[in-house]
Amino acid sequence: MRAGFPDFRLGKVLATSFTATLSERHGEAVERIPVPHRLVDWLAVNGLAVDSCTVAQLDLARELRESIHAAATAAAIQDSLPAPAVQVINDCSAQGRAAAILTPEGERRWQLSPASCVEDALSVIAADAISIIAGERDGKLALCASPTCQAAFFDTSQSRTRKWCDMNTCGNRQKKARFKANQRNNS
Ligand SMILES: [Zn+2]
Repeated sequence: MRAGFPDFRLGKVLATSFTATLSERHGEAVERIPVPHRLVDWLAVNGLAVDSCTVAQLDLARELRESIHAAATAAAIQDSLPAPAVQVINDCSAQGRAAAILTPEGERRWQLSPASCVEDALSVIAADAISIIAGERDGKLALCASPTCQAAFFDTSQSRTRKWCDMNTCGNRQKKARFKANQRNNS
């Protein structure tokens, strides 16, 4: 973690971890990739190390992020997918050159093109978003119950009844708020 920047919220699903780099969209939004090198940091943490990132590439990444957020939100509420968002996701998916590599340990690793550019990494994220929005993976898209968050997340719980994007942040805050409200009512 670099000092002076908000830390990352990392989940198990690449596409929604990426959309979580902007949190509290309906409250006081926190931008977790405010400068290009923070996107470089985020990609490195997620197995998509790139050499560098320009301001234009950061803009493209944020455009993809908000497009995934818009499309995933629509999918979660079973609305029709917004065409401009789908276009951005598809363009990003098609623009990069990344290959899935099987390691000797039996794990998947992403190999970006020799230039290891941001576009390659974004194509992996876009493809991940497509697979969850298309319903190809075991899980269900849902929206966080926190009114200031409403982030789209991928619920892989057995019962598909997860309420919050993240138990440690939104879930906890909700619990604390309820606890305080109960205390007030009891006093
Ligand atoms: Zn949330």
